[in-house]
Amino acid sequence: MKKAVFLDRDGVINENLKDIVEPSQFHLLHGVSEAIKKLNESNYLVVIITNQPVIAKGFCTFEDMDAIHQKMKNELAKEGAKIDAIYVCPHHPEKGFKGEVPELKIDCDCRKPKPGLILQAITDYSIDVENSWIVGDSETDITAGKTTGLKTILISGKLESAGNADYTFKDLKTAVEHIIIV
Ligand SMILES: [Mg+2]
Repeated sequence: MKKAVFLDRDGVINENLKDIVEPSQFHLLHGVSEAIKKLNESNYLVVIITNQPVIAKGFCTFEDMDAIHQKMKNELAKEGAKIDAIYVCPHHPEKGFKGEVPELKIDCDCRKPKPGLILQAITDYSIDVENSWIVGDSETDITAGKTTGLKTILISGKLESAGNADYTFKDLKTAVEHIIIV
């Protein structure tokens, strides 16, 4: 069994723009490569769990999303950091908008706060849940982590408001420093 750190993408790894639909909009946050490299060296699997309703909305395709993720992997690789797996929820529950992809406009089991993608990863990689973490910048990440039994970290500018999370840190770098010590 392997321990893992599940990471939300937007706002944790990269700048949280409203919709990221092409690689030019993807910008790594400061210290992220170094943080992910530390997790790699500490034998944590690094697994991204991300809601990307932009696909259901027709704002970008699965191929566009792959290109965005290739840019992310390339930039991380320059600093010697690596993502072990990426799980994307492409769905969105509210139908009736122009340009949407009807078959993806469903009330799925994988859109966070639902735990579907995390559960899938736990099965796929035989993950040791008790010694694993989720790091996210929204309550939906924390809820998904709690539902699956992970330890939870909220990334927030407001350190005093942890909400339901076990811990709050200002960025991934400081969160990872904590994970590695405990
Ligand atoms: Mg986020």
